[in-house]
Amino acid sequence: MNTQLSQAAELWRAAQCTIVLTGAGISVPSGIPDFRSPGGLWSRFDPNQVASSWALDQHPRAVWEFLLDALRMFNAASPNPAHTALVQLEQLGFLEAVITQNIDGLHSQAGSRNVIEFHGNCRRFYCNGCRREYPANQALALTESDLPWLCGLCTRVIRPSLVFFGEAIPRKAMTAAQQLASRADLAVIVGTSGDVAPANAIPYQVKHMGGRVLEINLGPTSYGNLADVRLDLPAQECLPALADMLNHH
Ligand SMILES: [Zn+2]
Repeated sequence: MNTQLSQAAELWRAAQCTIVLTGAGISVPSGIPDFRSPGGLWSRFDPNQVASSWALDQHPRAVWEFLLDALRMFNAASPNPAHTALVQLEQLGFLEAVITQNIDGLHSQAGSRNVIEFHGNCRRFYCNGCRREYPANQALALTESDLPWLCGLCTRVIRPSLVFFGEAIPRKAMTAAQQLASRADLAVIVGTSGDVAPANAIPYQVKHMGGRVLEINLGPTSYGNLADVRLDLPAQECLPALADMLNHH
């Protein structure tokens, strides 16, 4: 394990521009089960029925029952040592940006400055009709009888600024991620199995341009043999160890 960690630290130290791609796995130690795992939200809700723009139109109450569950779970969670290590690595100058597929907001909450939320977040809410914005604390104060949450101005349904199934990645996030991927010479994959397009393509782009890939994941993933160094270790243990090694050499 020490040899692999040293190899990972060497790879990281040699890089000029490092980006990290994170997914559900990094938030599991914070108490947010992977939506797709047993016990995750998709074991209780059907994503097409609660997390698509079609569903928001057709079944706004079901969508909001799901959203309220998710919001309460995110609100109860705190960043874990993996999030904190990424903050430290950014501060030390070893990390250009975090590109995350997570909508829980934990990277920003931990203190990471340059975070690209590929699938949006649950901090901003707006009316699907008139686009009026609503604060997140108002969403958290909702009770079951308030659902679905409707706009006070036009009575259309309010939605979070996340990317529902079938919706496009926000142009700004897409452009920023593409620019980073074209500049980066190291992509670090953390807690994502690489099954969700188009975010999963980012490490391949970096590799294709002559860069390196470090993968930190438990068990086998869709990335197969892509990584130059692979750590089959919990991110909340090896990211702080790597930050420590990079800080002291
Ligand atoms: Zn409205």
